Amino acid sequence: MLWVLLLANWLIPLILSWLYVLFAWIPGWIHFYGYVGGLTWAFDLQDETIDNWYTRAWAGWAGFGAMSVILLRDRPSQDERYGTTIAHEKRHSMQIWTLGLLQPILYITCSIFLFITAKMGMTPHIHPYLDNPFELDARHAAGQKVDIPPDEWPRGPKDHWPWW
Ligand SMILES: [Zn+2]
Repeated sequence: MLWVLLLANWLIPLILSWLYVLFAWIPGWIHFYGYVGGLTWAFDLQDETIDNWYTRAWAGWAGFGAMSVILLRDRPSQDERYGTTIAHEKRHSMQIWTLGLLQPILYITCSIFLFITAKMGMTPHIHPYLDNPFELDARHAAGQKVDIPPDEWPRGPKDHWPWW
């Protein structure tokens, strides 16, 4: 029985990741970019003329990392193939390769926990999204600034929205 659970722990996020890609690729909202190493394939929102709920939901986001697939808002040049955003999203992909389905479960749990403690005033200097351990790890791996003080948060020091 344990092997079924272990298999499901890695197969479920792998299948969901590629179903998500198909869901956005079939109507032409995302385009295939290429293989970016580490068993990861990249897609991007190359066509900026498409204006619908999906492309609008990307406002404020640079990328999204799933299992063996990453999505990028902007199409990287060949020079950027191993650039910062790709490195960041590949790290999220690697987190899922390591933890399986536990990664999204733990990620969401961390953000909700940090959101509640911030709302209760216990952690006013902790941002539920920027200080999520999975984001700290991804920024560290990509060579980005890891510790982001409250006065540099996207919507100022009172911003505690957990998803961006
Ligand atoms: Zn991230």
